[in-house]
Amino acid sequence: MKRKALVVLSGGQDSTTCLFWATDKFGRENVCAIGFDYGQRHKKELECAAAICADEGIQYEVIPTPIINALSANALTREDIPVDKEKPEGTPPNTLVEGRNLLFLSYAAIYAKTHGITDLVTGVCETDFSGYPDCRDVFIKSLNVTLNLAMDYNFVIHTPLMWLNKSETWELADKLGVLETIYRRTLTCYNGIIGEGCGSCPACFLRKRGYDEYMERKNNV
Ligand code: ZN
Repeated sequence: MKRKALVVLSGGQDSTTCLFWATDKFGRENVCAIGFDYGQRHKKELECAAAICADEGIQYEVIPTPIINALSANALTREDIPVDKEKPEGTPPNTLVEGRNLLFLSYAAIYAKTHGITDLVTGVCETDFSGYPDCRDVFIKSLNVTLNLAMDYNFVIHTPLMWLNKSETWELADKLGVLETIYRRTLTCYNGIIGEGCGSCPACFLRKRGYDEYMERKNNV
């Protein structure tokens, strides 16, 4: 039996690149995606994800998880908390939602098992580690064991971006033939501007710097 994969898809650059990594690895007919509506400022990112999935013929379901916002207020979910321009020294950025990946992957695992899916795909990344402890490889490996024990099931959590920097993530998108799609149709910007973004928030800065670095490498080969 062919393995099936569930991609945790937010509509940003990283998770959308993972979606295409999964369709390449598992075959489009064996991939579906899940998103979480936790009160993030920009629902548009979920709309980006839904639009791409619709075009690709991939099933996409958005699960409401208001509990995350009820438990912890932060700059990603609260209009009245501005996003830090620069990461404060020694503390995580104020866009951190504590335990978000723990919860998302646990919810995804429950959904996956219910649908006979074993493989989970997430865009977490340790390379550009910005103080999000549940993006680390050691956490993902630990969670994989925990989920298997919790549900008596053989999940495999895939993290194709774990050791890539932003420029290498663009390179992966290019290799998968979706550079344009990722560039134009995903939302990473904290100010909610699809594609190129506002150009001035920290997310836009990292995204553009990675893109420019990759283009420079590509053009110099
Ligand atoms: Zn921006």
